[in-house]
Amino acid sequence: MTPPPTEYDFDPTDWPTATALGQRMLADMMTYLEGVSDEASWQQIPETVKERMRAPLPQTGQPLEEIYAEFLRDVVPYNKKNIHPAFYAWVQGTGTVTGLLADMLASALNPNVTIGEHMPMYVDAQAVDWCKELMGFPAKASGMLVSGGSMANITALTVARNSQLGTDFREEGFGADMPRTTVYCSTETHSCVQKAVEILGIGNRYLRRVPVNDRYEMDHEALIRAIEEDIAAGHRPICVVATAGTVNTGAIDPMEAIFNICRRYGLWFHVDGAYGALCRLDPVYADRLAYMERADSIAFDLHKWMYLPYEVGCVLIRDRELHRRSFALTPAYLQSSDRGLAGGPEPLNNYGFELSRGFKALKVWMSLKENGVEGYARLIAQNNRQAEYVGGLAGATEGLVVVAPVSMSIVCLRYFRSGMTQLESNALNQELLLRLHERGIASPSSTVLGGIFCIRICIVNHKTKNRDLVRLVEALVEIGNELYRSV
Ligand SMILES: *Cc1c(COP(=O)(O)O)cnc(C)c1O
Repeated sequence: MTPPPTEYDFDPTDWPTATALGQRMLADMMTYLEGVSDEASWQQIPETVKERMRAPLPQTGQPLEEIYAEFLRDVVPYNKKNIHPAFYAWVQGTGTVTGLLADMLASALNPNVTIGEHMPMYVDAQAVDWCKELMGFPAKASGMLVSGGSMANITALTVARNSQLGTDFREEGFGADMPRTTVYCSTETHSCVQKAVEILGIGNRYLRRVPVNDRYEMDHEALIRAIEEDIAAGHRPICVVATAGTVNTGAIDPMEAIFNICRRYGLWFHVDGAYGALCRLDPVYADRLAYMERADSIAFDLHKWMYLPYEVGCVLIRDRELHRRSFALTPAYLQSSDRGLAGGPEPLNNYGFELSRGFKALKVWMSLKENGVEGYARLIAQNNRQAEYVGGLAGATEGLVVVAPVSMSIVCLRYFRSGMTQLESNALNQELLLRLHERGIASPSSTVLGGIFCIRICIVNHKTKNRDLVRLVEALVEIGNELYRSV
């Protein structure tokens, strides 16, 4: 046999040069992160730059150095900038320097953290155990780090459905003679719950949206009525999704009442805490979030209020065996052994849909060690106090009106002058938000509450300082006045 003629690989041809470039990249990014606070909070991308990102597929290679120069020229200046202290849009975390470094280290080791006897498996298990402690879940519960809240929610709802419908559900699916299964959530629930219910074959029509009170919290009396009606109609209620921190207004569904209702009707109690579950570390909110730790399952994000770089979320399931029964499957090529590389802990694909998994546990492990629970408690509480501060400033400022109760770290407000119609106010505030973005002052997002277009400020930002918030409120009034005078 003659060996294949060429021996080709993707390693650097010149390691010292590659190392120098890597060091430069890291140094550049540290400089960028250090200075980003002084930059505009957002910048419009010029058409020419977008045009360059529509090139044909490269057939031959080019030096990394050149590609990096292109990255610095075309990508970095037009970043989304949720790393900026004046970023308050949607629910998006800032990321940390430690997260950056940990992701770099994780990429270097590059383990597939699913199966086998290797230390990343144990780092992952440690990170998950700490997540249980953070949430007050028992040590014997099971959990998984996943890509985010959406994946965490669908994982939990899969276990909820399978557990409620019995052991042969995986084999048989929904039978024609089965009653319709129903799931309950509030009208404020995140859209990923609807997607999950659709994918799980339950059907959007059978996701009951229970009305909320004037604080946007689920009305538990209405929940009971909805369950009773479904039972009377011959349906099969299986699960209630309570939200700890709604995406619109940071509202908290009544955990204790929902827990008791689930007990009474034998329903699975799931908490979507993607945004707000970690808020239990703020003593001001601990009481209202009590009973969350008694849920059958909980989904929460670490790329939001743990400020970790994308992506990482966590799902916890109280009953490990039920979790396992929903996903465990061992094909011949995934068998583990007592010794050797395929030894080690139980393969993690027995607890979720995803097989290949990156080493996202490293940033969780490193960050929890570096900051301690104390560090997170302090910053989360700070973000909540900052939202209250913005609400207070806006409330005391002529021309600004807080539209929903400030809950957790979300403030929904608008510019408003008496005599304005809702249509005028909505148009003015939409334009106000665009100008705020385009002038690079701050990046809130928007929502609509009862027909009112609101500027929505959500602070899951470890870099925001009081002066940023004062500047935001000043800019809101300034641009608002400018627009008001021109109509
Ligand atoms: C962000 C969020 C989600 C979705 O989480 P992803 O990490 O974006 O997938 C679900 N529910 C709530 C309440 C959220 O805030």
